[in-house]
Amino acid sequence: MPLMNTKAMFDQAYKHGYAIGAFNVNNMEIIQGIVEAATEEKAPLILQVSKGARNYANPVYLQKMVEAAEKVSGLPIALHLDHGDSFELCKSCIDGGFTSVMIDGSALSYEDNVALTKKVVEYAHDTTNHPYITVEGELGTLAGIEDEVSHAVGSYTRPEEVIDFVTKTGVDSLAIAIGTSHGAYKFKPEQCTRDENGVLVPPPLRFDILEAVSEKLPGFPIVLHGSSSVPQEFVQIINANGGKMPDAVGIPEAQLRKAATMSVCKINIDSDLRLGCTAGIRKHFAEHPEHFDPRQYLGDARANIKTVVKHKLTEVLGCAGKADEIIAKYNEMNK
Ligand SMILES: [Zn+2]
Repeated sequence: MPLMNTKAMFDQAYKHGYAIGAFNVNNMEIIQGIVEAATEEKAPLILQVSKGARNYANPVYLQKMVEAAEKVSGLPIALHLDHGDSFELCKSCIDGGFTSVMIDGSALSYEDNVALTKKVVEYAHDTTNHPYITVEGELGTLAGIEDEVSHAVGSYTRPEEVIDFVTKTGVDSLAIAIGTSHGAYKFKPEQCTRDENGVLVPPPLRFDILEAVSEKLPGFPIVLHGSSSVPQEFVQIINANGGKMPDAVGIPEAQLRKAATMSVCKINIDSDLRLGCTAGIRKHFAEHPEHFDPRQYLGDARANIKTVVKHKLTEVLGCAGKADEIIAKYNEMNK
C-alpha cells in the first residue's frame, strides 16, 4: 500500500472514538522507534515533518525514510507537513509525495488565513497531477515554541468562526486552540498548581470550546497540537545526568485520552519523543563514558522513543489494533 492521506484514518477515528498519533520525525532512529512501536501495536501512524525538520535533514532523506517505514511495516502511514507557512512550501511537499499538509495561517488576519488556506486546499484537492492530498487548517493560536513556530501568548479558537472557515476553505481537518501549547515548557509555574510531589499541574484544557466546535461541525475531524505530556521520569533522568530542565510541564494524559474519545482525531506529539531521546543519550553517556559509537547511544534513544510511542498508542490515543480497519476503509474509499 502506498502512503495514504488522512481520510480513512479520520473517518474511522471519529466513528470509533480514538485519535491517530501524529509524531514529528527528524532522523532515522526517531522514525524507527515510532514504527517499531506501531508495528507491535498494529496501529496507524501520521509521521509529520516540520519546515525545520526539512531544513535539518533534507526533504528527500525524510521522505525516503518514511517510504521505507511503510514498506518495512505495511502499516497505514500518512506523511504530513506540520505547520506549512506558505503556499509554496505546501506545494513543494505535495509535488514531492507528501500525502497530507497543514497550512498554518493562524498568525494572519481571519480573512488572510481563509484566503491562504483556500489556495492550498484548491491545489491539494485537484487530482490532475497528484492524488487527493488532505489539508489541515488552524484557527486560534497556541502559545509556546516549536521549531520556527513561536507565540508568547495563545488565543482560544472562537467556535462562532469554525463553520465559516471550514465552508470557505474546504479543509479536511481543523487544528484548534483549547489550552494545549508547544514545547516542553508549556506553562509558566505561576499558571500552574503543584501536586504533592511538587510537580507542576497545568490549567485544564477547555473542553467547553471543543464541545462547542464539535456541535457546529458534527462529524468533522479536529486536531490538537502541542499535546506532549512531558513525562516526569524522563525529565528526572535528564536532570540527574547533567541536564537542566527545571519545571518542564505538559498536558495530563487523561485529558488527551478524553479528547481522543471526542471529535479529536489527530494528536500531535513531538516534545515527549525529544525527551525520551535525550534521556536515553544522557543516561547512556553517564553510564558508559568510554562509548563513542553512535549506534550505542542512539540505540538507547530509539528504544526510549519506542517505549513512549507504545504507551501513547495504547493508553492515550486508543488506536492500537486499528491498522486493519483503516486499511479496509482505505481500500473501500479507493476502489
Ligand atoms: Zn503544532
